[in-house]
Amino acid sequence: MATGNTAQVIDSPAATLRFRKPFTQQEPISEPAIARAVEVMRSGRLHRYNTAEGEVAEAALLEEAFAEWQGARYCLACASGGYALRLALIAAGLKPGEPVLANAYTLAPVPGAIHGAGGVPVFVEIGRGWRLDPADLDAKAALSGARFLMLSHMRGHIADMDAVMAVCEARGITLIEDCAHTMGAAWDGKRSGSFGRVAAFSTQTYKHLNSGEGGFLTTDDDEIAARAIVTSGSYMLYERHRARPPSEAFDDIRLETPNYSGRMDNLRAAILRAELPLIDERIARWNALYAAMEKGLAGTEGVEVVPIPARESHVGSSFQFHATGPGAAGMPDFLAACARRGVELKWFGAEAPAGFTSRFDSWRYLREPQSLPRTIETLATTVDLRLPLTFDEADCRIIAAIIAEEAARFMA
Ligand SMILES: *Cc1c(COP(=O)(O)O)cnc(C)c1O
Repeated sequence: MATGNTAQVIDSPAATLRFRKPFTQQEPISEPAIARAVEVMRSGRLHRYNTAEGEVAEAALLEEAFAEWQGARYCLACASGGYALRLALIAAGLKPGEPVLANAYTLAPVPGAIHGAGGVPVFVEIGRGWRLDPADLDAKAALSGARFLMLSHMRGHIADMDAVMAVCEARGITLIEDCAHTMGAAWDGKRSGSFGRVAAFSTQTYKHLNSGEGGFLTTDDDEIAARAIVTSGSYMLYERHRARPPSEAFDDIRLETPNYSGRMDNLRAAILRAELPLIDERIARWNALYAAMEKGLAGTEGVEVVPIPARESHVGSSFQFHATGPGAAGMPDFLAACARRGVELKWFGAEAPAGFTSRFDSWRYLREPQSLPRTIETLATTVDLRLPLTFDEADCRIIAAIIAEEAARFMA
């Protein structure tokens, strides 16, 4: 059926509409960031603890700036977002073999971080809007006895944090937030990353700040901050950090904590420190693109757009919808038809992992298969696309028009 329909694409005059920009092209690094990075390279002092007399390292200055921007007491810059997540669990006291609750819809580095920290992921169902289901969280917490929840605000969709926090408080669960997609987002006016004991951010190319690779850990907790800093590979040089707890917090920790080397260098830090002041303006542009997609797909048959809850301040750096017309069976044909017209869509529901996407049941290193029928059902029709800032609103209108036309072919 679907194959017969796609044949019409060639004949249809509307099919001449084609999109020609790549979905993976980010904006260039800003000139002030390039200039500062070149200065750091000229100095030769790229390692964060390699400083001249009286000099404060770029990495330490960046941590201070990010902590202030985020509203956290302490910040550690490190090698990647995934590393920050693993560090968060280790610094928060995860013991080998302990269960860690996590939303079933997430990216592979999240279960990887749990596994790498010695934990065992226990997945929690998501709802139709890709948000963690607090009722299933409570059920899985009761079943597993887990002391930790690693909550990914996946694709910027923030769960009902009142309900999530109520479960965490009632059950004594330590919340760790994965803010890889919510740097700058908020729930009820409160920054994502400020609900839990620890938060992790990514500065990998496809996230909200771009240093190629990189991450942040933020916390208000003295002990967690001290343990994270020493674990990240500070040696006995932790006093060179600025967004850190008082020196006494390190007295025992510096001797008891292994060094899992994963620092950020001054070159990446220089780029990020120069780009951090640009982020709020970027968020406004992402949200304009997101709004253009929403408007372009409003009322489209075969496409369901889930509205952003009023309490969420979303950062629309990507866009999700349910392709209800094509459904799971028609999805491969729908994606191929859009791809032929230059619209690169990702499907999180595929049984076989592809590109950056993989479904929880494909992570076979997690020995015990877990049954999450609602997540499977939600992901079956979930389509995902990036909205890089090299796109403008007119681009989004073209993308939406192509999606709408291709989805409509499944409605006949
Ligand atoms: C990208 C990402 C990470 C990991 O970030 P890296 O910096 O690539 O290690 C973690 N969680 C989510 C949801 C992500 O998208």
